[in-house]
Amino acid sequence: MSRRLLNKPHGDRARRCVYIPDEFNRGLPYMRLRGAFSTLASQEAVVHEVRKNRILSPLLFANPAILSLVVRVINIYNGYMAIGLIGACGLCELDGLEISKEVSVSTPYGDPSCPYKIGSFGNSEVIFLSRHGAPHSIPPHLVNYRANIWGFKTLGVDQIISVNAAGAIKPDIKTGSLVLQNQIIDMTAGARQHTFCETGKITYIDFANPYCVEMRKRCISAAAEIGMPVGQTGVYICVNGPRLETAMEIRHFAMIGADIVGMTAMPEAALTRELGICLLGISAITNCAAGLSDKILTATEVIENMRTSNSMINRLLGAVIPRLSGVRNCSCDNRLNDAQL
Ligand SMILES: [Zn+2]
Repeated sequence: MSRRLLNKPHGDRARRCVYIPDEFNRGLPYMRLRGAFSTLASQEAVVHEVRKNRILSPLLFANPAILSLVVRVINIYNGYMAIGLIGACGLCELDGLEISKEVSVSTPYGDPSCPYKIGSFGNSEVIFLSRHGAPHSIPPHLVNYRANIWGFKTLGVDQIISVNAAGAIKPDIKTGSLVLQNQIIDMTAGARQHTFCETGKITYIDFANPYCVEMRKRCISAAAEIGMPVGQTGVYICVNGPRLETAMEIRHFAMIGADIVGMTAMPEAALTRELGICLLGISAITNCAAGLSDKILTATEVIENMRTSNSMINRLLGAVIPRLSGVRNCSCDNRLNDAQL
């Protein structure tokens, strides 16, 4: 059975997907379901698919963990791959992305920033969330990161592309360029709800490499293919905000190895790892960090430069999303093995 299910999908099978209703996720220890639950429409859809594929007795549906696993296998079989996209509203204007519906998701951690926009891009389903709400109204320190990431997981997302604005600390990183993050220094610790691990067993996730190596590699290839220069690595230092940094803070950050500074990468990255989701971080460099230029940094300048960067980001996303389809070929989900005490 499993050999056949893991074969590559053909024809219209590649367009179908299977969903589990929200209630299967609520109140269950996430580690039991890690990487295995999916969403949406109705249990009947699952029952129908399972019966059609003759893979398991419907009696097993009483166990939500098994049901979730079944759905995951069916999704792989059907070639269903949902890619999450977090960023500003302009990313929805990606050429070739057709938004077909909006879905509001409730989570055990409260409400995500706004409804998720679900659309298709080639053979992938893209699920978009505006991190700061729609319209942009939630400051970085008040974003409900746990609800946002949990919501993606319940929508069946295994890969997230997170786009954010950042200031350049390293002198050779220029305003207007794009940088792929590969490391994080977290200065928000203790100031934000930063983990799903609150009750039951303690989970010590491996976070030595916070971003998915495979996704970054594919993004670098995609950028090369379209002739777009991108910074292939970047150490992102995350501050709480919403105030900008002092000049001396930036000097300090440079001394401890930070390349760029922003306010949103954490706890977003750690939460995706806790749920076994792959993460690609793309920073649009919107300004020089404080004290590194004679100009006074304003929020207006950051927003305007982010808008300018959107066309570049969209070009890059258009090239990278098709490269992400298919079975994950990385160890992000495996990092959860042996993580519990
Ligand atoms: Zn990965």
